[in-house]
Amino acid sequence: MIIILLGPPGAGKGTQAGAIAGRFGIPHISTGDIFRANLKNGTPLGLEAKKYMDAGSLVPDELVVRLVGDRLGETDALKGALLDGFPRTVGQADALSACLAGQGRGVDHCLCLEVDDGVLIKRLAGRRLCRGCGAGFHVDFSPPPADGRCPNCRGEIYQRDDDSEATIENRLKVYHDQTSPLIAWYAERGLLRVVDGDAPMATVEAGVVRALGL
Ligand code: AMP
Repeated sequence: MIIILLGPPGAGKGTQAGAIAGRFGIPHISTGDIFRANLKNGTPLGLEAKKYMDAGSLVPDELVVRLVGDRLGETDALKGALLDGFPRTVGQADALSACLAGQGRGVDHCLCLEVDDGVLIKRLAGRRLCRGCGAGFHVDFSPPPADGRCPNCRGEIYQRDDDSEATIENRLKVYHDQTSPLIAWYAERGLLRVVDGDAPMATVEAGVVRALGL
């Protein structure tokens, strides 16, 4: 089972991803998380990706495609994968199809979470995360504790560098220019399932379950 999670930054892809991957027993592969982990460890890949991430731009296709191709060849991904934040360009979608076809499989579903820009800007600018367990907070809707420590694991709560207002604007522009054409691309192939991502979390989850026919 290969599932793609598509949607603008801040649509809630990461939140839904864990639950979907768990249901299908497949690994959750987030290209953004892989880049951030590489950056934390100071690898050449992380340092290269940082140049683009800080500006809210996309890391070049050839780098991302190789990374995901290698990851999909690992043993745990042979039974399937949930791809979060990949593909983000038509070139990446083409490369993914070719890579999967080479392994005798293909994309089963492309799940698109739809949310308006105004809502996304508020969500992203107020978003805070735990460095330890990845738990999410929001300065207005789910404020982190005053001591700046995660109530689950005591990890440090931080704001992603690319959640600054200037970078958010560019990330949304990049999404509309380069990633949103994938909505039509997957629809033409009969693989698109759309869910309204601007609803309470339980409602979005129910929409995802319905869209995937679970
Ligand atoms: P995310 O955590 O998915 O919002 O990704 C954070 C940043 O990582 C993006 O703004 C891009 O700079 C980079 N990135 C993640 N996935 C991709 C991808 N599939 N193609 C190009 N750049 C990516």
